[in-house]
Amino acid sequence: MRALCWHGKQDIRCDTVPDPRIEHPRDAIIRVTSCAICGSDLHLYDGFMPGMEHGDIMGHEFMGVVEEVGAENRKLKKGDRVVVPFTIVCGACDQCRRGNFSVCERSNRNKELADKVFGHATAGLFGYTHLTGGYPGGQAEYVRVPFADQAPVKVPDGLSDEQVLFLGDIFPTGWQAVVQCDLQPADTVAIWGAGPVGQFCVRSAVLLGARQVICIDHVPERLSMARAGGAITIDFDTESVIERLNELTRGKGPEKCIDAVGLEAHAGRSVDSLYDRAKQAVMLETDRPHVLREMMYVCRPAGVLSVPGVYGGLLDKIPFGMAMNKGLTIRMGQTHVNRWTDDLLRRIREGQIDPSFVITHTVDLAEGPGMYKTFRDKQDGCIKVVLKP
Ligand code: NAD
Ligand code: ZN
Ligand code: ZN
Repeated sequence: MRALCWHGKQDIRCDTVPDPRIEHPRDAIIRVTSCAICGSDLHLYDGFMPGMEHGDIMGHEFMGVVEEVGAENRKLKKGDRVVVPFTIVCGACDQCRRGNFSVCERSNRNKELADKVFGHATAGLFGYTHLTGGYPGGQAEYVRVPFADQAPVKVPDGLSDEQVLFLGDIFPTGWQAVVQCDLQPADTVAIWGAGPVGQFCVRSAVLLGARQVICIDHVPERLSMARAGGAITIDFDTESVIERLNELTRGKGPEKCIDAVGLEAHAGRSVDSLYDRAKQAVMLETDRPHVLREMMYVCRPAGVLSVPGVYGGLLDKIPFGMAMNKGLTIRMGQTHVNRWTDDLLRRIREGQIDPSFVITHTVDLAEGPGMYKTFRDKQDGCIKVVLKP
C-alpha cells in the first residue's frame, strides 16, 4: 500500500510499504477514506520530537471503512464506517475507567521507554513517536487499529467524511481546551494560535457561551477565519498583544487563556535557529515573549491557563513565580478524545457546527509530502489539509 513515511527532518515521502495485518484478536484493519495533517505532525516534520525512526508511517487523524476485524472484536464489523481517535485506549485500565484516555496505562507498547522518559507510560498514539508506542499512522491506504473494540466512533449515515473526520482529534482538542477553562458566563477567553486547533477553540468557546472570545495570530487568513467564528482578533505583528488584551478587558486581563500554539512558539523564526539551544535561550529573552510567558503575564489573577499546544523536552524561562503568586491554574495534556465524541457528534448532527469549515486543501495522498511544507509555511492560504488515499 501507499503511506506517508518519515525519513528525517522535513523529509516525508509517499512510500510503498507492506499492508498491515491483524496482530491481535481485538484489532481491526481500516481502509482509510480521509486523513489530515495536524500541527502535531509538524513537530515530527520539524524534528522537534525524539523517538522517530526512518520509515515510520505518519498520521493520527483518519477515518475509513472497516476492512477486517479480529476474532474477539464485538464492536465492529466489515463495512462499518468509523472515525478513529488519535489516542489508543484499552478501555479497562484505571485511567480509562476514569475517562483519562490519553494516559491509558496499557495501550503504549513501548512502556519501558516511556517510563524512562516521562516517569510513567502515557497512551499509545497513532503515527507519533516511539515514546507513545510508535504505532503506524493513518496517512496511508490501510491502518491497523489496536483495541479497535474501544475508541473508534461509528459514523451515522448522511454525514460526509469532512463533517466527522475532526472528531478524531482537533474538534475534541479545541473543546477540551475550553471545557478545562471552567468557563463562567462573564469570562473572556483569549486563544493564542489561529491554526486548526485554535479555530476549534474559538468555535467551542462560542458554543460554550464565553462572553468574549479573542484570538491571536499573525496569518491574515487564519485571523479572518477566527473572526468568522465569532472572535475578536489581534495580529501580533502589528499590535501589542498585552496592551490590546488589557484594553479589551478594561485592564483586568482575560480570565481564561489558551495556548493553541505549542512548540512553534517563535513565529517567523526559522526552525534551524530553534535547533540551536543556546540561541533558543537567548531568543526567549530578546524575541517576542513565549506564548506561555505572555499568558502568565496577562491572565487575570485566579484565572486558568489551558494548554492543548504540544510541548516536548525542556522549556526554559517560564515565570513560574508569577503564575504561582497570581494563583493561576494550569491545565494541559493530550486530549481524552473519547470523553467528548458522543456529545460532539450529536452537535454536528444537530447542525450546531459543521467542522468542515476549517478545510482549505483536499489532495491525493501522493501529494502529502508537498502539503506538509505548504501547511507548515502557511502558503497558499493553507489552514487544514485533507488527504484522500
Ligand atoms: P498550527 O501550527 O497550524 O497552528 C499554530 C498557529 O500558532 C499558527 O497559525 C501560528 O501562526 C500561530 N502562532 C505561532 N506563534 C504564535 C504566537 N507567539 N502567538 C500567537 N500565535 C502564534 O497547528 P495546529 O494544528 O493548530 O495545532 C496547534 C497546537 O496544538 C500544536 O502544538 C499541536 O501539536 C497541538 N495539538 C494538541 C493536541 C492535544 O491533544 N493536546 C491535539 C492536536 C494538536
Ligand atoms: Zn492532531
Ligand atoms: Zn486504558
